[in-house]
Amino acid sequence: MDFSGALAIIGRFIAEERKNPALVFTPNAEILVKAHDDAEFGRVLKNADLVVPDGTSLLWASKVLKRPLETRVTGIDLMQRLLTEAENAGWSVYFLGAKPDVIVEAAARVKHLHPGLKLVGYHHGYFDDDFSVIEGINKLRPDILFVGMGAPKQELWLTRNREELNCRVALGVGGSFDVLSGRVDRAPLWMQKKGLEWLYRYIREPSRLKRSILLPRFVRLVLKEKFGTSKGETTQ
Ligand code: UDP
Repeated sequence: MDFSGALAIIGRFIAEERKNPALVFTPNAEILVKAHDDAEFGRVLKNADLVVPDGTSLLWASKVLKRPLETRVTGIDLMQRLLTEAENAGWSVYFLGAKPDVIVEAAARVKHLHPGLKLVGYHHGYFDDDFSVIEGINKLRPDILFVGMGAPKQELWLTRNREELNCRVALGVGGSFDVLSGRVDRAPLWMQKKGLEWLYRYIREPSRLKRSILLPRFVRLVLKEKFGTSKGETTQ
């Protein structure tokens, strides 16, 4: 599906007035390799209510496997569109994740960009006491909870605490608060359109390079699924 398809489904989750949140995750290729290696994380992704492809390598894989996906649905873009929709529809939102100063800046910038948005609260993503964080969220009963604590932490946290959380839908949005705060900039539009945003991120944040070792494994796993066994890899 494309962005409007994803937004329509999220809108339905909200309209259903769920007691506990529907979970929406946005994995890229590196995250799928992690989910392949870690059975618990694999189950967490499979049990989500909606999973959208954040990355061009996933489009490539879907073509190779003859189950083509139409387009990338990146977490940050989905979040930005959802914020606009929330402002128009009157849905309340809560932000959880990122460093303490980053989340304050992200909230301030979002309030500035969306003056009509009901941003009911936020909390940084470095805490030990789940209970008090969840209590803080539940008091405000947001329609949408955005959680940006990186993968797989955010997906595991949401799945573990789903029954305790009182909101309609929760999304794992990775490093989106860093982008919204203005601390991390996105690739120029032409690079985004050509599917080269990953390259830009590696150049700007060389520390991410260590994760890139997962990409060749992703390619091998996809080819293995298509053509059968390849040395040194197992599929579940
Ligand atoms: N983060 C957090 N709590 C943690 C670890 C990380 O809130 O315990 C935040 C971190 O500050 C950053 C985001 O999670 O804002 C991770 O961003 P990244 O781009 O690495 O996300 P990923 O690529 O894993 O989706």
